[in-house]
Amino acid sequence: MKKMFLALLLLALPAPSQPPQAARPLVLAHVTVLDMTGAGARPDMAVLISGDRIAGLGPSDGFRVPQDAQVIDAAGKFLIPGLWDMHVHWLHKDYLPLFLANGVTGVRIMWGDAMHHEWRREIEQGTLRGPRLAIGSPIVDGSPPIWPGSTPVKDAAEGRQFVIQQKQQGADFIKVYSRLSRDAYFAIADEAKKQGLPFAGHVPDSVSVMEASDAGQKSIEHLTGVLAACSTREEELRKGRDAAWSKGPTGQPVFNRAAARPLTRLALDTFSAEKANALFARFVRNHTWQCPTLTVLRNMAFIQDPAIRNDPRVKYMPPDIAATWDPAGDFRLKDRTEEDVALQQETYRKLKDLIRPMRRAGVDFLAGTDVLNPYCFPGFSLHDELTLLVEAGLTPLEALQAATINPARYLGKDKDLGTVEKGKLADLVLLEANPLDDIGNTKKIAAVVFGGKLLAKAELQKMLADLEAPAKKEGGR
Ligand SMILES: [Zn+2]
Repeated sequence: MKKMFLALLLLALPAPSQPPQAARPLVLAHVTVLDMTGAGARPDMAVLISGDRIAGLGPSDGFRVPQDAQVIDAAGKFLIPGLWDMHVHWLHKDYLPLFLANGVTGVRIMWGDAMHHEWRREIEQGTLRGPRLAIGSPIVDGSPPIWPGSTPVKDAAEGRQFVIQQKQQGADFIKVYSRLSRDAYFAIADEAKKQGLPFAGHVPDSVSVMEASDAGQKSIEHLTGVLAACSTREEELRKGRDAAWSKGPTGQPVFNRAAARPLTRLALDTFSAEKANALFARFVRNHTWQCPTLTVLRNMAFIQDPAIRNDPRVKYMPPDIAATWDPAGDFRLKDRTEEDVALQQETYRKLKDLIRPMRRAGVDFLAGTDVLNPYCFPGFSLHDELTLLVEAGLTPLEALQAATINPARYLGKDKDLGTVEKGKLADLVLLEANPLDDIGNTKKIAAVVFGGKLLAKAELQKMLADLEAPAKKEGGR
């Protein structure tokens, strides 16, 4: 009778006899830790994860493993912090697991809105599977704005108002864009400082890169304006580019490609190493971060390359997004002449060549891809970016730091994120091979830990398979 009573009681209660899985500590044993602080590789370590934090780490030999811990033998494997993609646009909630499945445990949203703040709450509550989010304001641009839906501001007053309103709405930073007027831009810079909000994005055509750096722009995306800023004819280039924009019959912005073509040629032909060095020194002095997004720059320049157009990872994309990647429908790509394409490719190579000297001068980098742009894939492409950064002359360690400790420092979250150290949040990627030997090894993911929860390889594969299937079966949704 007593037994019966107990059984009924257990049925009525929400299973108190089985603690939730996350409560059980996790130990990764015999793993090589690449902690990203700049210290060397530490072989045969044990890492204890308790709750959502790294509770301890030390040599496996003699490591005190809690009795109830789940122990994973990670001999021959390598542990790095969770990766961040620092330049992301994304609108499909269902596809957020693509980031985690690729070891991308955090992203910076470069055009934020209310939906992203909702996602963040759900992710933090554990009801939605997705990466940590740093969320920007909507794009603030000049009038007319380049992208429909961004916020155009006509003058300084509107610029200030935008910043104040975004502060109230919880944006983590202000995203500035190419067509802002000087007055609006500097007002945004000043108000952002007053409101304690960083501002980041494109350097507008109306402003020089040095001025943007001096004004405190926290990061420059896509190396916007950098080539012109390294030219002995900088003023002329900037004013010419500004003048290449006009307002079309329905008020839309129109870019005069024919007028811009000789300017790009001139920028390439008048490159000055002296001006470049002065610019890089200014970035270092002002601590202006660079997020070059080589992935999108390469994809746009080489979109006709079958290796890009036939990328098999398209199968993971929502069909409506894949459809927008056809260059025939992209205003930035469809009217290019052969000469334009060649110039764009030469510009890409030149910008890529600047990364190594910039780094040697002490400039700090962020790894970002521009997900949502053609063939920039959630999660997957961050690994492409790391490879491109190494091709450009960063060491594998520097490239990895651009996706781990640097984002944490940039976001002011280095107490909690960015390295494999005791006390940090347990966002980790376990790799089958050493990424310092070959940066491509970041793709060989054995497991991901997100907020202390283990996502084993089978789970990661299932997350991918689940997203591949509906896209194929429904053929459009
Ligand atoms: Zn972007």
